[in-house]
Amino acid sequence: MSQIMFCPKCGSLMKPRRINGRLYMICPKCGYKVEADPKKVSSSLKMKETIQHTPKDKTIVVDGEALPPTAQVLKGVTVCPKCGNDEVIVWMMQTRAADEPPTRFYRCTKCGYTWREYA
Ligand SMILES: [Zn+2]
Ligand SMILES: [Zn+2]
Repeated sequence: MSQIMFCPKCGSLMKPRRINGRLYMICPKCGYKVEADPKKVSSSLKMKETIQHTPKDKTIVVDGEALPPTAQVLKGVTVCPKCGNDEVIVWMMQTRAADEPPTRFYRCTKCGYTWREYA
């Protein structure tokens, strides 16, 4: 039975090795060693996937409920293109290269429509 497991310390692909009749997963890079237990291996793989996906999802979500602490309600600066309301929540977010100006986001306080404006 072959298992794929990544080292929790350095992320290298670990290799299975049998020592004293027991199967271990050993990292060829840093020497990290763990006994190969099918349950443990699958749970550590799931953990790695969760860690990889969560930060990415958080940065992409713009239409979600979570707004940055810098968000503020402004009246009269712009008008909602959907309902014409002039009271909007405004916040800035760095979506492109760090040396470019951040993108300004707007959300209508009335209908919740969210749009962006490139500064
Ligand atoms: Zn390692
Ligand atoms: Zn609106």
